[in-house]
Amino acid sequence: MPAFANTDTLSALLQKKRVVVNAQPLDTAAPWWQSLLLGFGPTILFVLLLFWLMRRAGSAQNLLGTFGRSRARRYQPSGDRVTFADVAGIDEAKRELTEVVDFLRHPEKYRRLGGRIPHGVLLSGPPGTGKTLLARAVAGEAEAPFFSLAASEFVEAIVGVGASRVRDLFKEAKEAAPAIVFIDELDAIGRSRTSGVAGFSGGNDEREQTLNQILTEMDGFDSATSVIVIGATNRPDVLDQALLRPGRFDRRVAVQPPDRKGREEILKVHTRHVPLGPDVELGRLAATTPGMVGADLANLVNEAALLAARRDHRVVTEADFTDALERIVLGAERQVMMTAEDRRLTAYHEGGHAIVGMLTEGADPVRKVSIIPRGLALGVTFAAPESDRFNYREPEVHARIKVALGGRAAEEVVFGEISTGAESDIQQLTEIARQMVGRWGMSDAIGPIAVIPRDGSGPLLPGVAEVSPETQKLVDQEVRRVVEAAHHDALSLLRENRDKLDSLAHALLEHETLDEDDAYAAAGVERGERELVQSAG
Ligand code: ADP
Ligand code: MG
Ligand code: ZN
Repeated sequence: MPAFANTDTLSALLQKKRVVVNAQPLDTAAPWWQSLLLGFGPTILFVLLLFWLMRRAGSAQNLLGTFGRSRARRYQPSGDRVTFADVAGIDEAKRELTEVVDFLRHPEKYRRLGGRIPHGVLLSGPPGTGKTLLARAVAGEAEAPFFSLAASEFVEAIVGVGASRVRDLFKEAKEAAPAIVFIDELDAIGRSRTSGVAGFSGGNDEREQTLNQILTEMDGFDSATSVIVIGATNRPDVLDQALLRPGRFDRRVAVQPPDRKGREEILKVHTRHVPLGPDVELGRLAATTPGMVGADLANLVNEAALLAARRDHRVVTEADFTDALERIVLGAERQVMMTAEDRRLTAYHEGGHAIVGMLTEGADPVRKVSIIPRGLALGVTFAAPESDRFNYREPEVHARIKVALGGRAAEEVVFGEISTGAESDIQQLTEIARQMVGRWGMSDAIGPIAVIPRDGSGPLLPGVAEVSPETQKLVDQEVRRVVEAAHHDALSLLRENRDKLDSLAHALLEHETLDEDDAYAAAGVERGERELVQSAG
Protein backbone atom coordinates (compact mmCIF):
# COMPACT_ATOMS: atom_id res chain seq x y z
CA MET A 1 0.00 0.00 0.00
CA PRO A 2 1.53 3.26 -1.00
CA ALA A 3 2.55 5.21 2.03
CA PHE A 4 1.32 8.49 0.71
CA ALA A 5 -2.31 7.36 0.39
CA ASN A 6 -4.68 8.56 3.00
CA THR A 7 -5.02 5.23 4.76
CA ASP A 8 -7.92 6.20 7.00
CA THR A 9 -10.32 7.21 4.28
CA LEU A 10 -9.08 4.46 2.03
CA SER A 11 -9.73 1.68 4.55
CA ALA A 12 -13.16 3.17 5.36
CA LEU A 13 -13.98 3.18 1.67
CA LEU A 14 -12.72 -0.37 1.27
CA GLN A 15 -14.79 -1.56 4.17
CA LYS A 16 -17.87 0.15 2.85
CA LYS A 17 -17.48 -1.52 -0.50
CA ARG A 18 -16.69 -4.85 1.22
CA VAL A 19 -13.53 -5.25 -0.58
CA VAL A 20 -11.50 -8.10 0.76
CA VAL A 21 -8.19 -6.63 1.71
CA ASN A 22 -5.31 -9.01 1.37
CA ALA A 23 -2.63 -6.77 2.69
CA GLN A 24 0.87 -7.99 3.45
CA PRO A 25 3.47 -6.17 5.41
CA LEU A 26 6.32 -4.60 3.47
CA ASP A 27 9.20 -6.99 3.12
CA THR A 28 11.40 -5.90 5.97
CA ALA A 29 13.79 -8.80 5.63
CA ALA A 30 16.01 -6.97 3.17
CA PRO A 31 18.60 -4.99 5.12
CA TRP A 32 18.75 -1.30 4.70
CA TRP A 33 21.92 -1.34 2.64
CA GLN A 34 20.42 -3.53 -0.01
CA SER A 35 17.84 -1.01 -1.04
CA LEU A 36 20.49 1.63 -0.81
CA LEU A 37 22.69 -0.35 -3.13
CA LEU A 38 19.83 -1.06 -5.51
CA GLY A 39 18.88 2.56 -5.54
CA PHE A 40 22.31 4.09 -5.62
CA GLY A 41 24.33 1.15 -7.01
CA PRO A 42 24.74 2.51 -10.51
CA THR A 43 25.80 5.87 -9.14
CA ILE A 44 28.37 4.29 -6.85
CA LEU A 45 29.72 2.21 -9.71
CA PHE A 46 29.92 5.29 -11.85
CA VAL A 47 31.79 7.23 -9.21
CA LEU A 48 34.20 4.34 -8.69
CA LEU A 49 34.80 4.18 -12.41
CA LEU A 50 35.43 7.89 -12.45
CA PHE A 51 37.95 7.54 -9.63
CA TRP A 52 39.71 4.75 -11.46
CA LEU A 53 39.87 6.72 -14.67
CA MET A 54 41.19 9.72 -12.83
CA ARG A 55 43.88 7.65 -11.23
CA ARG A 56 44.87 6.27 -14.56
CA ALA A 57 44.94 9.49 -16.47
CA GLY A 58 45.28 11.88 -13.61
CA SER A 59 46.76 15.32 -13.60
CA ALA A 60 50.29 15.86 -14.79
CA GLN A 61 51.39 15.89 -11.18
CA ASN A 62 49.82 12.53 -10.57
CA LEU A 63 51.27 11.09 -13.72
CA LEU A 64 54.82 11.93 -12.79
CA GLY A 65 54.16 10.59 -9.34
CA THR A 66 53.32 7.09 -10.44
CA PHE A 67 55.49 6.85 -13.52
CA GLY A 68 58.49 8.35 -11.87
CA ARG A 69 58.60 5.84 -9.09
CA SER A 70 61.26 3.25 -9.61
CA ARG A 71 59.92 0.18 -11.31
CA ALA A 72 62.98 -1.77 -10.28
CA ARG A 73 62.35 -5.39 -9.69
CA ARG A 74 63.89 -6.48 -6.49
CA TYR A 75 65.12 -9.98 -6.08
CA GLN A 76 65.45 -11.12 -2.55
CA PRO A 77 68.39 -13.30 -1.58
CA SER A 78 65.97 -16.19 -1.18
CA GLY A 79 63.52 -17.24 -3.85
CA ASP A 80 64.79 -18.31 -7.28
CA ARG A 81 68.33 -17.75 -6.29
CA VAL A 82 70.95 -17.90 -9.03
CA THR A 83 74.50 -18.73 -8.05
CA PHE A 84 77.83 -19.10 -9.77
CA ALA A 85 77.05 -22.80 -10.19
CA ASP A 86 74.44 -21.80 -12.78
CA VAL A 87 76.97 -19.87 -14.82
CA ALA A 88 79.47 -21.80 -16.90
CA GLY A 89 81.98 -21.34 -19.67
CA ILE A 90 82.87 -17.74 -18.87
CA ASP A 91 85.40 -18.37 -16.16
CA GLU A 92 87.41 -15.20 -16.49
CA ALA A 93 84.38 -12.99 -15.98
CA LYS A 94 83.29 -15.20 -13.12
CA ARG A 95 86.67 -14.89 -11.44
CA GLU A 96 86.58 -11.11 -11.61
CA LEU A 97 83.12 -11.01 -10.12
CA THR A 98 84.07 -13.33 -7.29
CA GLU A 99 85.99 -10.36 -5.97
CA VAL A 100 82.90 -8.18 -6.14
CA VAL A 101 81.04 -10.77 -4.10
CA ASP A 102 83.76 -10.60 -1.50
CA PHE A 103 83.47 -6.81 -1.33
CA LEU A 104 79.79 -7.12 -0.65
CA ARG A 105 80.21 -9.79 1.98
CA HIS A 106 83.11 -8.35 3.89
CA PRO A 107 83.27 -4.64 3.11
CA GLU A 108 85.05 -3.85 6.38
CA LYS A 109 87.95 -6.14 5.45
CA TYR A 110 88.78 -3.94 2.47
CA ARG A 111 88.01 -0.64 4.11
CA ARG A 112 90.29 -1.36 7.03
CA LEU A 113 93.26 -1.24 4.71
CA GLY A 114 92.11 2.00 3.19
CA GLY A 115 90.98 0.49 -0.06
CA ARG A 116 88.15 2.07 -1.97
CA ILE A 117 85.50 -0.41 -2.89
CA PRO A 118 84.70 -0.21 -6.59
CA HIS A 119 81.32 1.31 -7.32
CA GLY A 120 80.77 0.39 -10.90
CA VAL A 121 81.41 -2.80 -12.84
CA LEU A 122 80.66 -2.90 -16.53
CA LEU A 123 79.94 -6.26 -18.15
CA SER A 124 80.38 -6.09 -21.88
CA GLY A 125 79.92 -8.80 -24.44
CA PRO A 126 77.67 -10.11 -27.21
CA PRO A 127 73.98 -10.83 -26.49
CA GLY A 128 73.22 -14.13 -24.80
CA THR A 129 76.64 -14.70 -23.28
CA GLY A 130 75.21 -14.55 -19.77
CA LYS A 131 75.73 -10.99 -18.55
CA THR A 132 72.34 -10.70 -16.88
CA LEU A 133 72.73 -14.17 -15.46
CA LEU A 134 76.15 -13.30 -14.07
CA ALA A 135 74.88 -10.17 -12.37
CA ARG A 136 72.09 -12.14 -10.73
CA ALA A 137 74.59 -14.78 -9.65
CA VAL A 138 76.68 -12.10 -7.95
CA ALA A 139 73.65 -11.03 -5.97
CA GLY A 140 72.84 -14.64 -5.17
CA GLU A 141 76.35 -15.38 -3.98
CA ALA A 142 76.60 -12.25 -1.91
CA GLU A 143 73.09 -12.80 -0.55
CA ALA A 144 72.52 -9.15 -1.22
CA PRO A 145 69.36 -7.50 -2.52
CA PHE A 146 69.46 -7.02 -6.23
CA PHE A 147 67.76 -4.06 -7.91
CA SER A 148 67.47 -4.57 -11.59
CA LEU A 149 66.35 -2.15 -14.23
CA ALA A 150 66.62 -2.18 -18.00
CA ALA A 151 67.92 1.12 -19.27
CA SER A 152 65.50 1.09 -22.17
CA GLU A 153 62.68 1.44 -19.63
CA PHE A 154 64.11 4.79 -18.61
CA VAL A 155 63.66 6.23 -22.01
CA GLU A 156 60.09 7.48 -21.89
CA ALA A 157 58.33 10.34 -23.52
CA ILE A 158 57.98 12.53 -20.46
CA VAL A 159 61.11 14.42 -19.61
CA GLY A 160 62.19 14.10 -16.00
CA VAL A 161 60.76 10.67 -15.36
CA GLY A 162 63.96 8.76 -15.97
CA ALA A 163 65.97 10.93 -13.61
CA SER A 164 63.46 10.65 -10.78
CA ARG A 165 63.28 6.94 -11.26
CA VAL A 166 67.05 6.67 -10.98
CA ARG A 167 66.93 8.73 -7.80
CA ASP A 168 64.35 6.38 -6.27
CA LEU A 169 66.25 3.32 -7.34
CA PHE A 170 69.46 4.42 -5.70
CA LYS A 171 67.65 5.57 -2.59
CA GLU A 172 66.08 2.16 -2.15
CA ALA A 173 69.39 0.44 -2.78
CA LYS A 174 71.23 2.57 -0.24
CA GLU A 175 68.62 1.77 2.37
CA ALA A 176 69.07 -1.93 1.69
CA ALA A 177 72.88 -1.82 1.46
CA PRO A 178 74.95 -3.84 0.94
CA ALA A 179 73.12 -4.16 -2.34
CA ILE A 180 73.56 -4.41 -6.06
CA VAL A 181 72.02 -2.11 -8.61
CA PHE A 182 71.95 -3.71 -12.02
CA ILE A 183 71.39 -1.56 -15.08
CA ASP A 184 70.88 -3.71 -18.14
CA GLU A 185 71.32 -2.43 -21.71
CA LEU A 186 73.29 0.51 -20.43
CA ASP A 187 74.00 1.71 -23.96
CA ALA A 188 70.32 2.67 -24.35
CA ILE A 189 70.98 5.70 -22.18
CA GLY A 190 74.75 5.77 -22.03
CA ARG A 191 75.42 6.38 -25.71
CA SER A 192 78.13 8.85 -26.39
CA ARG A 193 76.65 12.32 -26.53
CA THR A 194 78.80 13.34 -29.45
CA SER A 195 77.98 10.51 -31.81
CA GLY A 196 74.63 9.95 -33.39
CA VAL A 197 72.95 12.21 -35.83
CA ALA A 198 71.65 15.24 -34.02
CA GLY A 199 67.98 15.94 -34.47
CA PHE A 200 67.08 12.35 -35.20
CA SER A 201 66.80 10.99 -31.72
CA GLY A 202 63.77 12.55 -30.11
CA GLY A 203 64.42 11.30 -26.60
CA ASN A 204 67.84 12.90 -26.38
CA ASP A 205 67.06 15.26 -23.53
CA GLU A 206 65.52 12.50 -21.51
CA ARG A 207 68.43 10.17 -22.09
CA GLU A 208 70.90 12.81 -21.10
CA GLN A 209 69.06 13.70 -17.90
CA THR A 210 68.82 10.06 -16.93
CA LEU A 211 72.47 9.53 -17.64
CA ASN A 212 73.44 12.60 -15.67
CA GLN A 213 71.39 11.42 -12.73
CA ILE A 214 73.16 8.05 -12.75
CA LEU A 215 76.53 9.80 -12.82
CA THR A 216 75.48 12.10 -9.98
CA GLU A 217 74.33 9.18 -7.87
CA MET A 218 77.54 7.28 -8.46
CA ASP A 219 79.66 10.31 -7.65
CA GLY A 220 77.66 10.70 -4.45
CA PHE A 221 78.77 7.35 -3.11
CA ASP A 222 81.22 7.71 -0.27
CA SER A 223 83.56 5.03 0.91
CA ALA A 224 80.96 3.86 3.41
CA THR A 225 78.37 3.07 0.74
CA SER A 226 78.30 -0.61 -0.04
CA VAL A 227 76.24 -0.36 -3.16
CA ILE A 228 77.81 -1.76 -6.28
CA VAL A 229 76.42 -0.78 -9.63
CA ILE A 230 76.71 -3.42 -12.33
CA GLY A 231 76.02 -2.32 -15.87
CA ALA A 232 75.71 -4.55 -18.92
CA THR A 233 76.01 -3.69 -22.58
CA ASN A 234 76.45 -5.29 -25.99
CA ARG A 235 77.98 -2.13 -27.35
CA PRO A 236 80.79 -0.88 -25.10
CA ASP A 237 82.19 1.02 -28.07
CA VAL A 238 79.32 3.51 -28.16
CA LEU A 239 79.28 4.31 -24.44
CA ASP A 240 79.83 7.84 -23.27
CA GLN A 241 83.34 8.31 -21.94
CA ALA A 242 81.92 10.02 -18.86
CA LEU A 243 80.54 6.66 -17.73
CA LEU A 244 83.96 5.05 -17.81
CA ARG A 245 85.80 7.55 -15.67
CA PRO A 246 87.36 6.46 -12.36
CA GLY A 247 84.79 6.19 -9.60
CA ARG A 248 82.11 5.26 -12.09
CA PHE A 249 82.13 2.13 -14.25
CA ASP A 250 85.86 1.84 -13.89
CA ARG A 251 85.99 -1.95 -13.68
CA ARG A 252 85.35 -3.53 -16.99
CA VAL A 253 84.71 -7.23 -17.40
CA ALA A 254 84.56 -8.71 -20.88
CA VAL A 255 82.13 -11.57 -21.25
CA GLN A 256 83.35 -13.56 -24.24
CA PRO A 257 81.47 -16.18 -26.24
CA PRO A 258 82.46 -19.58 -24.83
CA ASP A 259 85.02 -21.86 -26.46
CA ARG A 260 84.45 -25.58 -27.01
CA LYS A 261 85.23 -26.51 -23.43
CA GLY A 262 83.06 -23.67 -22.18
CA ARG A 263 80.14 -24.78 -24.34
CA GLU A 264 80.44 -28.25 -22.88
CA GLU A 265 80.29 -26.81 -19.37
CA ILE A 266 77.21 -24.73 -20.25
CA LEU A 267 75.51 -27.80 -21.76
CA LYS A 268 76.26 -29.64 -18.54
CA VAL A 269 74.57 -26.92 -16.49
CA HIS A 270 71.47 -26.92 -18.66
CA THR A 271 71.12 -30.71 -18.86
CA ARG A 272 71.35 -31.13 -15.08
CA HIS A 273 67.66 -31.93 -14.86
CA VAL A 274 67.26 -33.48 -18.31
CA PRO A 275 67.39 -37.28 -18.62
CA LEU A 276 69.96 -37.97 -21.32
CA GLY A 277 70.23 -41.10 -23.46
CA PRO A 278 73.43 -43.13 -23.24
CA ASP A 279 74.43 -42.05 -26.75
CA VAL A 280 74.55 -38.34 -25.89
CA GLU A 281 78.06 -36.95 -25.59
CA LEU A 282 78.05 -33.35 -24.50
CA GLY A 283 81.67 -32.91 -25.59
CA ARG A 284 80.82 -33.87 -29.16
CA LEU A 285 77.73 -31.69 -29.12
CA ALA A 286 79.87 -28.78 -27.96
CA ALA A 287 82.23 -29.40 -30.88
CA THR A 288 79.40 -29.10 -33.41
CA THR A 289 78.14 -25.79 -32.05
CA PRO A 290 80.89 -23.27 -32.75
CA GLY A 291 79.74 -19.69 -32.39
CA MET A 292 76.83 -20.52 -30.12
CA VAL A 293 76.57 -18.63 -26.83
CA GLY A 294 74.95 -19.60 -23.55
CA ALA A 295 71.46 -18.51 -24.53
CA ASP A 296 71.68 -20.53 -27.79
CA LEU A 297 72.81 -23.63 -25.91
CA ALA A 298 70.05 -23.29 -23.33
CA ASN A 299 67.62 -23.02 -26.23
CA LEU A 300 69.14 -26.07 -27.92
CA VAL A 301 68.69 -28.23 -24.83
CA ASN A 302 65.11 -27.05 -24.52
CA GLU A 303 64.28 -27.72 -28.18
CA ALA A 304 65.83 -31.18 -27.98
CA ALA A 305 63.79 -31.98 -24.87
CA LEU A 306 60.58 -30.80 -26.56
CA LEU A 307 61.39 -32.85 -29.64
CA ALA A 308 62.04 -35.94 -27.51
CA ALA A 309 58.72 -35.44 -25.75
CA ARG A 310 56.88 -35.12 -29.05
CA ARG A 311 58.50 -38.36 -30.19
CA ASP A 312 57.53 -40.11 -26.95
CA HIS A 313 61.14 -40.80 -26.06
CA ARG A 314 61.86 -41.73 -22.48
CA VAL A 315 65.17 -39.88 -22.56
CA VAL A 316 66.63 -37.21 -24.82
CA THR A 317 68.75 -38.91 -27.45
CA GLU A 318 71.58 -37.86 -29.71
CA ALA A 319 69.16 -37.74 -32.66
CA ASP A 320 66.89 -35.34 -30.78
CA PHE A 321 69.85 -33.05 -30.26
CA THR A 322 71.06 -33.14 -33.88
CA ASP A 323 67.56 -32.56 -35.23
CA ALA A 324 66.99 -29.69 -32.80
CA LEU A 325 70.33 -28.19 -33.79
CA GLU A 326 69.40 -28.41 -37.46
CA ARG A 327 66.09 -26.71 -36.80
CA ILE A 328 67.80 -23.89 -34.97
CA VAL A 329 70.62 -23.40 -37.45
CA LEU A 330 68.75 -23.92 -40.69
CA GLY A 331 65.17 -23.00 -39.72
CA ALA A 332 62.10 -25.22 -39.55
CA GLU A 333 61.04 -27.07 -42.68
CA ARG A 334 58.08 -25.59 -44.47
CA GLN A 335 55.39 -27.14 -46.62
CA VAL A 336 55.13 -25.39 -49.95
CA MET A 337 54.15 -26.67 -53.34
CA MET A 338 56.96 -26.18 -55.76
CA THR A 339 56.65 -26.62 -59.48
CA ALA A 340 59.06 -29.04 -61.14
CA GLU A 341 60.76 -26.07 -62.71
CA ASP A 342 61.30 -24.34 -59.36
CA ARG A 343 62.70 -27.50 -57.84
CA ARG A 344 65.17 -27.86 -60.69
CA LEU A 345 66.23 -24.24 -60.35
CA THR A 346 66.68 -24.64 -56.60
CA ALA A 347 68.64 -27.88 -57.01
CA TYR A 348 71.09 -26.14 -59.34
CA HIS A 349 71.26 -23.03 -57.16
CA GLU A 350 72.12 -24.97 -54.00
CA GLY A 351 74.31 -27.35 -56.01
CA GLY A 352 76.23 -24.30 -57.20
CA HIS A 353 76.92 -23.09 -53.65
CA ALA A 354 77.97 -26.59 -52.65
CA ILE A 355 80.27 -27.27 -55.60
CA VAL A 356 82.04 -23.93 -55.22
CA GLY A 357 82.35 -24.65 -51.50
CA MET A 358 83.77 -28.11 -52.09
CA LEU A 359 86.29 -27.00 -54.68
CA THR A 360 87.53 -23.73 -53.23
CA GLU A 361 90.57 -23.74 -51.01
CA GLY A 362 89.84 -21.99 -47.73
CA ALA A 363 86.07 -22.47 -47.84
CA ASP A 364 84.39 -24.11 -44.87
CA PRO A 365 83.46 -27.77 -45.53
CA VAL A 366 79.93 -28.33 -46.84
CA ARG A 367 77.89 -30.10 -44.14
CA LYS A 368 74.49 -30.34 -45.70
CA VAL A 369 72.67 -29.46 -48.90
CA SER A 370 68.92 -29.45 -49.09
CA ILE A 371 66.13 -28.33 -51.39
CA ILE A 372 63.44 -28.58 -48.73
CA PRO A 373 62.12 -25.08 -48.12
CA ARG A 374 62.91 -23.67 -44.69
CA GLY A 375 61.87 -20.30 -43.38
CA LEU A 376 62.03 -17.91 -46.30
CA ALA A 377 64.57 -19.94 -48.27
CA LEU A 378 63.69 -22.50 -50.92
CA GLY A 379 66.79 -24.50 -50.15
CA VAL A 380 69.90 -24.36 -48.08
CA THR A 381 73.58 -25.15 -48.24
CA PHE A 382 75.19 -25.31 -44.84
CA ALA A 383 78.93 -25.00 -44.45
CA ALA A 384 80.68 -24.85 -41.11
CA PRO A 385 84.28 -24.86 -39.95
CA GLU A 386 85.86 -27.85 -38.19
CA SER A 387 86.32 -25.94 -34.98
CA ASP A 388 85.98 -22.49 -33.49
CA ARG A 389 87.26 -19.73 -35.70
CA PHE A 390 88.34 -16.46 -34.21
CA ASN A 391 90.07 -15.08 -37.20
CA TYR A 392 89.71 -15.56 -40.94
CA ARG A 393 92.59 -15.18 -43.34
CA GLU A 394 92.15 -13.21 -46.50
CA PRO A 395 91.82 -16.21 -48.89
CA GLU A 396 89.12 -17.60 -46.60
CA VAL A 397 87.17 -14.39 -46.78
CA HIS A 398 87.44 -14.43 -50.56
CA ALA A 399 86.24 -18.03 -50.51
CA ARG A 400 83.14 -17.04 -48.59
CA ILE A 401 82.24 -14.44 -51.16
CA LYS A 402 82.80 -16.97 -53.92
CA VAL A 403 80.61 -19.59 -52.24
CA ALA A 404 77.86 -17.02 -51.70
CA LEU A 405 77.98 -16.26 -55.43
CA GLY A 406 77.93 -19.98 -56.34
CA GLY A 407 74.13 -20.21 -56.38
CA ARG A 408 73.60 -17.36 -58.76
CA ALA A 409 76.55 -18.40 -60.92
CA ALA A 410 75.07 -21.90 -61.32
CA GLU A 411 71.78 -20.40 -62.50
CA GLU A 412 73.68 -18.35 -65.07
CA VAL A 413 75.70 -21.32 -66.28
CA VAL A 414 72.79 -23.75 -66.52
CA PHE A 415 69.77 -21.62 -67.41
CA GLY A 416 71.46 -18.56 -68.85
CA GLU A 417 69.29 -16.36 -66.68
CA ILE A 418 68.97 -15.51 -63.03
CA SER A 419 66.10 -15.63 -60.53
CA THR A 420 65.31 -13.60 -57.43
CA GLY A 421 66.50 -16.48 -55.26
CA ALA A 422 69.93 -14.97 -54.75
CA GLU A 423 68.77 -11.89 -52.86
CA SER A 424 70.03 -12.85 -49.42
CA ASP A 425 73.24 -14.27 -50.90
CA ILE A 426 73.94 -10.94 -52.51
CA GLN A 427 73.22 -9.02 -49.35
CA GLN A 428 75.56 -11.25 -47.40
CA LEU A 429 78.46 -11.15 -49.82
CA THR A 430 78.20 -7.38 -50.30
CA GLU A 431 78.48 -6.99 -46.55
CA ILE A 432 81.57 -9.22 -46.42
CA ALA A 433 83.18 -7.32 -49.30
CA ARG A 434 82.47 -3.97 -47.65
CA GLN A 435 84.05 -5.13 -44.42
CA MET A 436 87.09 -6.47 -46.26
CA VAL A 437 87.71 -3.17 -47.93
CA GLY A 438 86.59 -0.79 -45.23
CA ARG A 439 87.53 -2.47 -41.97
CA TRP A 440 89.90 -5.33 -42.39
CA GLY A 441 92.40 -3.52 -44.58
CA MET A 442 92.27 -6.23 -47.26
CA SER A 443 92.32 -3.84 -50.20
CA ASP A 444 95.61 -2.41 -51.38
CA ALA A 445 93.92 0.63 -52.84
CA ILE A 446 92.47 1.66 -49.47
CA GLY A 447 95.13 0.23 -47.21
CA PRO A 448 94.78 -0.44 -43.51
CA ILE A 449 92.35 2.37 -42.83
CA ALA A 450 88.96 1.96 -41.22
CA VAL A 451 86.52 3.80 -43.43
CA ILE A 452 83.21 2.30 -42.41
CA PRO A 453 81.67 2.22 -38.93
CA ARG A 454 82.01 -0.87 -36.84
CA ASP A 455 78.62 -2.40 -37.39
CA GLY A 456 79.19 -1.86 -41.08
CA SER A 457 75.76 -0.41 -41.68
CA GLY A 458 74.19 2.89 -42.42
CA PRO A 459 75.76 6.06 -43.66
CA LEU A 460 78.99 7.24 -42.18
CA LEU A 461 78.28 8.96 -38.92
CA PRO A 462 80.07 12.15 -38.06
CA GLY A 463 82.79 11.45 -35.58
CA VAL A 464 83.25 7.81 -36.54
CA ALA A 465 85.68 8.32 -39.34
CA GLU A 466 86.40 11.23 -41.58
CA VAL A 467 86.12 9.97 -45.10
CA SER A 468 86.42 12.16 -48.12
CA PRO A 469 84.07 11.69 -51.05
CA GLU A 470 87.04 10.48 -53.10
CA THR A 471 87.81 7.75 -50.58
CA GLN A 472 84.16 6.79 -50.45
CA LYS A 473 84.16 6.43 -54.22
CA LEU A 474 87.31 4.33 -54.05
CA VAL A 475 85.69 2.08 -51.44
CA ASP A 476 82.73 1.51 -53.75
CA GLN A 477 85.06 0.72 -56.64
CA GLU A 478 87.07 -1.71 -54.57
CA VAL A 479 83.96 -3.52 -53.29
CA ARG A 480 82.78 -3.85 -56.87
CA ARG A 481 86.17 -5.14 -58.02
CA VAL A 482 86.34 -7.78 -55.27
CA VAL A 483 82.83 -9.05 -55.97
CA GLU A 484 83.28 -9.09 -59.75
CA ALA A 485 86.51 -11.04 -59.50
CA ALA A 486 84.83 -13.62 -57.25
CA HIS A 487 81.86 -13.83 -59.62
CA HIS A 488 84.18 -14.46 -62.52
CA ASP A 489 86.00 -17.19 -60.55
CA ALA A 490 82.76 -18.88 -59.51
CA LEU A 491 81.44 -18.88 -63.08
CA SER A 492 84.53 -20.44 -64.56
CA LEU A 493 84.81 -22.97 -61.74
CA LEU A 494 81.26 -24.16 -62.39
CA ARG A 495 81.70 -24.20 -66.18
CA GLU A 496 84.76 -26.41 -65.79
CA ASN A 497 82.98 -28.71 -63.36
CA ARG A 498 79.60 -28.81 -65.02
CA ASP A 499 79.50 -32.64 -64.75
CA LYS A 500 79.88 -32.46 -60.96
CA LEU A 501 77.22 -29.78 -60.73
CA ASP A 502 74.82 -31.88 -62.83
CA SER A 503 75.23 -35.02 -60.80
CA LEU A 504 74.87 -33.17 -57.48
CA ALA A 505 71.72 -31.40 -58.72
CA HIS A 506 70.22 -34.71 -59.86
CA ALA A 507 70.99 -36.34 -56.53
CA LEU A 508 69.30 -33.41 -54.80
CA LEU A 509 66.19 -33.71 -56.96
CA GLU A 510 66.02 -37.36 -56.01
CA HIS A 511 66.86 -37.25 -52.28
CA GLU A 512 66.04 -33.61 -51.40
CA THR A 513 68.59 -33.56 -48.57
CA LEU A 514 72.19 -34.73 -48.64
CA ASP A 515 74.50 -34.95 -45.66
CA GLU A 516 78.18 -34.15 -45.89
CA ASP A 517 79.36 -37.57 -47.06
CA ASP A 518 76.48 -38.12 -49.47
CA ALA A 519 76.90 -34.68 -50.97
CA TYR A 520 80.61 -35.15 -51.68
CA ALA A 521 79.90 -38.64 -53.08
CA ALA A 522 77.07 -37.42 -55.29
CA ALA A 523 79.22 -34.61 -56.65
CA GLY A 524 82.12 -36.99 -57.17
CA VAL A 525 84.47 -34.75 -55.26
CA GLU A 526 87.26 -36.17 -53.13
CA ARG A 527 87.71 -34.15 -50.02
CA GLY A 528 90.96 -32.30 -50.30
CA GLU A 529 90.63 -32.05 -54.07
CA ARG A 530 90.68 -28.33 -54.27
CA GLU A 531 91.75 -25.77 -56.69
CA LEU A 532 94.55 -23.59 -55.56
CA VAL A 533 93.03 -20.31 -54.73
CA GLN A 534 93.45 -17.74 -57.41
CA SER A 535 93.67 -14.53 -55.60
CA ALA A 536 90.50 -12.72 -56.41
CA GLY A 537 91.98 -9.45 -55.30
P1 ADP B 1 72.89 -11.54 -21.83
O1 ADP B 1 72.40 -10.75 -20.68
O2 ADP B 1 74.38 -11.58 -21.94
O3 ADP B 1 72.27 -11.17 -23.14
P2 ADP B 1 71.53 -13.63 -20.45
O4 ADP B 1 72.23 -13.62 -19.15
O5 ADP B 1 70.23 -12.93 -20.51
O6 ADP B 1 72.48 -13.07 -21.59
O7 ADP B 1 71.38 -15.14 -20.91
C1 ADP B 1 70.14 -15.70 -21.26
C2 ADP B 1 70.04 -17.13 -20.79
O8 ADP B 1 70.98 -17.95 -21.47
C3 ADP B 1 70.36 -17.30 -19.33
O9 ADP B 1 69.23 -17.12 -18.55
C4 ADP B 1 70.86 -18.72 -19.27
O10 ADP B 1 69.81 -19.64 -19.22
C5 ADP B 1 71.55 -18.89 -20.59
N1 ADP B 1 73.00 -18.60 -20.47
C6 ADP B 1 73.66 -17.59 -21.06
N2 ADP B 1 74.97 -17.63 -20.76
C7 ADP B 1 75.15 -18.67 -19.94
C8 ADP B 1 76.29 -19.22 -19.28
N3 ADP B 1 77.50 -18.68 -19.42
N4 ADP B 1 76.11 -20.31 -18.49
C9 ADP B 1 74.88 -20.87 -18.36
N5 ADP B 1 73.78 -20.39 -18.96
C10 ADP B 1 73.89 -19.31 -19.75
MG1 MG C 1 70.91 -9.39 -20.76
ZN1 ZN D 1 71.74 -19.02 -52.44
